[in-house]
Amino acid sequence: MIELPKTVRIGGFIYDVIYPHVFIEDFDYTGSCSYYAQELKISGVGNSVERSDYSIVSTFLHELVHAIDYVYCGNCLEERSVEKLETLLFSIIRSNPLLFSEDTPKRVDILGNRYEVLYPHVFEDAEGNLSIIDMSRGVIMIKDSIDSIVVKKPIITVALLFSIFCSGEIKNILGDGEEYPFTSKKLKSFCNGLYQVIIDNNIEELFRKLSD
Ligand SMILES: [Zn+2]
Repeated sequence: MIELPKTVRIGGFIYDVIYPHVFIEDFDYTGSCSYYAQELKISGVGNSVERSDYSIVSTFLHELVHAIDYVYCGNCLEERSVEKLETLLFSIIRSNPLLFSEDTPKRVDILGNRYEVLYPHVFEDAEGNLSIIDMSRGVIMIKDSIDSIVVKKPIITVALLFSIFCSGEIKNILGDGEEYPFTSKKLKSFCNGLYQVIIDNNIEELFRKLSD
C-alpha cells in the first residue's frame, strides 16, 4: 500500500492525514476532509478489499481539492465539481511530469491533446493577460514580463495552470456557463492554492511512485 504524507500544508494550515482510516458508520466512504478538525481521512480498503495505489492517490487528491477549496476559494465547489476535479487533476499531473518544474515545459498534454507552450511570448495586443490559450492553434502563450516587471517562475507555472483550466477540454467536463464552478477570480485563487499544495507537499513525488 502506497505511503501518504503524515501531514499536509494547505495555505497557513497543517492538516493531519489519517491513513489508513477505517470509516465505521460511513463504511462506503473512501475519504473525508474537515476544515474545522484540520484533517484528511483516507481509507485503505473499499468494499472489504485493499484499494489500489491509484485509487488511494486519487482519493487523496479529492480531499486536497476540498481543502484547497475551503482555504483558498471560500468553499465554492459542489461535490460533483470536486469529483470531476479529482479525475482531471489526476490525469493532468500524471501526463505532465514536468508541469511544476522550474523549467517551463515546452508542451503540455490536456486529456490526450497536445498543446505547445510558447514562453516567453510577446503578444501583439493582449495587454493585460499573462497567458492565453488558443485552442484552434493548439498553443498556450505566456509572457515573461508584465508592465516591464519580470514575472517569477512560480507565477508562470500558475499562469500555465490557469490556461490549462481555461481549455475547452477541461471546460467541457467541468461544465459550461452556469455550471462552470469557477469565476475567473476564483479560478486564479484555486490555481494559486493548487500550486502551493502540490509544491509544499511534494505531490509529484507520489505520482512518480505510481509510475514505478
Ligand atoms: Zn468529496
